[in-house]
Amino acid sequence: MEDSKQKNINTAKICFGNLLKQVIRLYSLDYVEIANEISVSPEAIRQWQRGRNFPSINYLDPLYNVLQKNVNIKTTPVLSVKLKSEIVKYLNFLNEDMFDETGLDIGGVLVSGLKLIYAHDKNTILSVREDVTDMKTGHTQVVFFDFDGTLTNRKETKTTWENIWIALGYEVEECRELHTRYNKKEITHSEWCKLTEEKFIKRNLRREVLNKIANDIELIDGCKETFEELRNRNIKVFIVSGSILYVIQEVLKDLSHYVDEIRANDFVFDINGKLKQIIGTKYDFEGKANYILEKINLLKVSPEDVLFIGNSFNDKYVYRSGAKTLCINPNKTDTSDTMIWNSCIEDCKNLMDVLKYIK
Ligand SMILES: [Mg+2]
Repeated sequence: MEDSKQKNINTAKICFGNLLKQVIRLYSLDYVEIANEISVSPEAIRQWQRGRNFPSINYLDPLYNVLQKNVNIKTTPVLSVKLKSEIVKYLNFLNEDMFDETGLDIGGVLVSGLKLIYAHDKNTILSVREDVTDMKTGHTQVVFFDFDGTLTNRKETKTTWENIWIALGYEVEECRELHTRYNKKEITHSEWCKLTEEKFIKRNLRREVLNKIANDIELIDGCKETFEELRNRNIKVFIVSGSILYVIQEVLKDLSHYVDEIRANDFVFDINGKLKQIIGTKYDFEGKANYILEKINLLKVSPEDVLFIGNSFNDKYVYRSGAKTLCINPNKTDTSDTMIWNSCIEDCKNLMDVLKYIK
C-alpha cells in the first residue's frame, strides 16, 4: 500500500475530528447534550473529536442534523466567517476544493464540509481495498518540543515576553492584560502581536535587551545529551514555541544544529538594532497542532509515532494532531486531563527523563 494513501486515511479522520471540535468550541455547544440527542455516549463524541475514528454510519445523519440546527440558531456573521475559514483550512489540507455553497445556510456549509472530509477518507479506503494496515511502527520517529518551561530551567517564573515588558519599564500586568484579551477572543493572535509591537517600538526595544534576557535563561539539564541521543536514534527534532526565535537561538547556541526546525514568533531589527517588526507565529495555541499535522503529512509518519513534549496551557491543543503528548514540569495546565496529556513528569530535573517515553 502506498504511504500517501494511508496518510490520507489518518489525516481525514483527524481533520474531521478537528473540525467537529472547532464547531463545538466556536459555538459553545455542549457535547454531552449532542451525545444525548443522537443517543451515543459522550465518550464516543470525544473519540470522534480526537480523530481516533469516524462516527459509524448510523450516527452520521443524526450528528449532521443536530450540528446544522445548533449552528444555524447560534451563528453570528463573525462566527460564520470563522467557521468557513476552518472548513476551507481542512479542505485545503486534504487537497480538496471548496464546494459550491450557493443556497446553503452556514449549518449546511458545515455539513457539506464534514461530508466531503468523510468522503475523502472513504474514497481512499475504497481505492486501497481491504489491505489497510496501520503505518505506525511503534517507534518514535519525530519529537516536538515546546521551548519556554520545557527546554528551559523552571526556576524562571516569568515568560520571555513578560521579561521584555519589564525590561522596557512596563508593568507585567500590561503584558498579562493583552494575554487575557486574547484568551477571551477579544483580539486575535496577530492583533496581540501588533499591540505588543507598538509598545515595544515606543520604548525603543533593541536587540541588546533580548541578548540580556537570553543570557539569563538556562537550558534544562540534560538537554544536549537528550538531543544527541535523539540524533543517534535518527529521530527528528522540532521546536514549536510561542516564544521568540532570536531568544531561542541565543539560548540553544550550538545545540541548534540538533534541531531540524524552530517555529516561533520572529523579531525583525533594523540595521541599527532597533525593533522594526514582530512577525507573529501562526503555530502557537491551536496552531501547534496544525504545525505537527503538517510535519506528520510531510514526513509520512503515523501520529502515533510522534511525541510532543510541553509544559503549559498553550500546548493544550496539541493532542488534536493525534500525536502523543508528554507534559513536564506542568505550569497552568491540567495534567489530570488524559485527553490533553497522555503522560506527565511532575518534576523533571533532567531532560534525559523523557527518553523513557521515546520508544
Ligand atoms: Mg512552555
